[in-house]
Amino acid sequence: MTTVARRGWLGGTFDPIHNGHLDVARAAHASLGLERVTLVPSRIPPHRPQPFASATDRAEMARLAAVEPWLEVSTIELDGQGPSYTATTMDRLDALGVDLNSLVVITGADAFVGILSWHRVDELLDRVSFAVVSRPGHPAPALRGALPALASRMVSTDAWPGSSQPCIVLVDAPTAPVSSTMVRAAVAAGQSLSGLVPDAVEAYIAAHGLYGTLKELHE
Ligand code: ATP
Ligand code: MG
Repeated sequence: MTTVARRGWLGGTFDPIHNGHLDVARAAHASLGLERVTLVPSRIPPHRPQPFASATDRAEMARLAAVEPWLEVSTIELDGQGPSYTATTMDRLDALGVDLNSLVVITGADAFVGILSWHRVDELLDRVSFAVVSRPGHPAPALRGALPALASRMVSTDAWPGSSQPCIVLVDAPTAPVSSTMVRAAVAAGQSLSGLVPDAVEAYIAAHGLYGTLKELHE
């Protein structure tokens, strides 16, 4: 029996989560008819350059942003050991009894263009479907040309769900032209975050003094 993917899995550093991330979740939710989308803040191991905010703060901001009833946050990667490889997270979900056919991993097109260097990529693409959402300056349909070796697996949203094999769905929807880098720079410059992050996330950043020292650090 074929299981249709009904749960989206959106990983990211979320340092902090912003309106572009939420637009990605909404685009995948609406165009693939997903029942829920899980936001998954990633763990950066100690020997790598660290995010500016702690794992606790990044997860809490994601929770504050997950207002829609179909949005939720998982700390599975923060609670684990080592770096957050999607392949190893899929191993863990599989071991927990999650049917990977019920899942679709969501990324922005700028992130997916580097997929061929991901840990255990061949196996990963055979195991789980991906939904790749356009990012301003990175249209998802351009991935057919950028990743010719994977083009035969790529389908547009109107062909979803088309087959029982994991595929790569290209979701060409608009998302806010926001990045976490832009948000951190706005905080450091003392600018309003209105339109960049939800109000509750802006309030959390202010209350916890997050990102405010960037200016001094960069001077
Ligand atoms: P940074 O500026 O620190 O690199 P970021 O804004 O790129 O942060 P990430 O946490 O690195 O955010 O992104 C998580 C996922 O969300 C990635 O798959 C990325 O491609 C996607 N994404 C982030 N912002 C957007 C956006 N505005 N439109 C579409 N996809 C996005
Ligand atoms: Mg990024």
